[in-house]
Amino acid sequence: MTGKEYVLNVLEQVEKRNENEKEFLDAVKEVATSLIPVFEKHPEYMEEGLLERIVEPERQIMFRVPWVDDKGRVQVNRGYRIQFNSAIGPYKGGLRFHPTVNASIVKFLGFEQIFKNSLTGLPIGGGKGGSDFDPKGKSDREVMRFCQSFMAELCKHIGLDTDVPAGDIGVGAREIGYMYGYYKKIRNANDQGVLTGKGLAYGGSLTRTEATGYGLVYFTEEMMRANNLSLDGKRVVISGSGNVAIYATQKATQLGAKVVALSDSNGYIYDENGINLEVVKEIKEVKRGRIKEYLDYVPSAKYFEGCRGIWTIKCDIALPCATQGEIDENSAKILVENGTKVVAEGANMPSTLEAIEVFQSNGVLFGPAKAANAGGVACSALEMSQNSMRMSWSFEEVDNKLKNIMVNIYKNSAAAAKEYGQEGNILMGANIAGFKKVADAMMAQGIV
Ligand code: NDP
Repeated sequence: MTGKEYVLNVLEQVEKRNENEKEFLDAVKEVATSLIPVFEKHPEYMEEGLLERIVEPERQIMFRVPWVDDKGRVQVNRGYRIQFNSAIGPYKGGLRFHPTVNASIVKFLGFEQIFKNSLTGLPIGGGKGGSDFDPKGKSDREVMRFCQSFMAELCKHIGLDTDVPAGDIGVGAREIGYMYGYYKKIRNANDQGVLTGKGLAYGGSLTRTEATGYGLVYFTEEMMRANNLSLDGKRVVISGSGNVAIYATQKATQLGAKVVALSDSNGYIYDENGINLEVVKEIKEVKRGRIKEYLDYVPSAKYFEGCRGIWTIKCDIALPCATQGEIDENSAKILVENGTKVVAEGANMPSTLEAIEVFQSNGVLFGPAKAANAGGVACSALEMSQNSMRMSWSFEEVDNKLKNIMVNIYKNSAAAAKEYGQEGNILMGANIAGFKKVADAMMAQGIV
């Protein structure tokens, strides 16, 4: 059987088994097709059924999360944790609290996480989780009661050497704090390394808050440098205005670029003079408000309803940092027509498969999520190391490690692409480099 036949056969099985899980199927398709040259070169991977095994989660947990709101009413949400692959280390991956969370979303995120975590070069397996709970509009006490109920079940499945969750959309320092507090209470254990993204006062790592956004920009900078380009003086459009978007804006600005737009799920702002990040932080991190409030502070800026329009703004670099599927084929074509040269993904799978095809066929430098946004999980693994050693490293120390990791992710992805005859295709290179390490570990550990 050829590598291509093998991949197509496995994809057919995956489609049958998971027919209603579009996001998961897209993620598997993207990874599996880019691995065809690997299976051609290494038939032993086919003989050991590696692709069939890697697309099947080791374990998936779904549970009821009952809690009582401020009016005394009972609310019920659904919680998830997927423990996808532990070949190279404990399951590691964020928790997402957002109304759109379902089994398919958690599964695609968990699948992507396997390769992303492998690319960091650190010993962490792939997992993900979350709930359809929406923290937006809830009081702190409601969020706390929800987090406690969520952790009451989750704590049965996680552990320092088993599974280490972190934040994602809707899960920031506040939620991690409530969850860690409850974990500690019911386990009677100060297992700081069981959750990452903690506050600095109780085992958090400096740079973790900035890590995904900073890492994205370090990756972008390296990808541009390898192609004789630089960030200096470039116009950048960034979607979202959450954790990743804010710190990508900060680092891009520090490195000489001008970020002219940010968004949230209601609309986007455009500021020709460059985004004033202190204002955005005040609105989003302190007031938990909406991005349109930016105009209250900077009246010369413009606000537009609807978030997709952000991709019509002319820019050299586009950094999607909001959510999956936010750049479709049409938005990708507009970006190309407007002369965008670089797209790097801060969010997970923000570009559809059709959009990626548009970028690649038009010579846009494309940094795929699993490589470009791996800085967050890399720094989480550094937080675990510090917790194990009962030590804290300085901001500069962690930031330097983060930068090295991001540069290496780019270099390893570029080298893997070249080795398999796909020079310049960082998407394929990242999939191949991420897969190889996990595959070799699975080969060594037998059929388990
Ligand atoms: P946050 O919750 O801090 O921010 C998310 C941002 O995206 C908000 O501005 C939100 O707007 C916007 N957004 C969410 N859903 C939608 C939607 N359906 N349409 C348009 N905008 C939307 O999350 P993060 O910044 O942490 O995460 C952003 C992305 O980065 C996600 O894909 C996440 O998986 C990925 N990521 C995050 C990492 C991390 O360390 N935090 C690590 C690696 C990847 P609103 O406020 O209106 O909801």
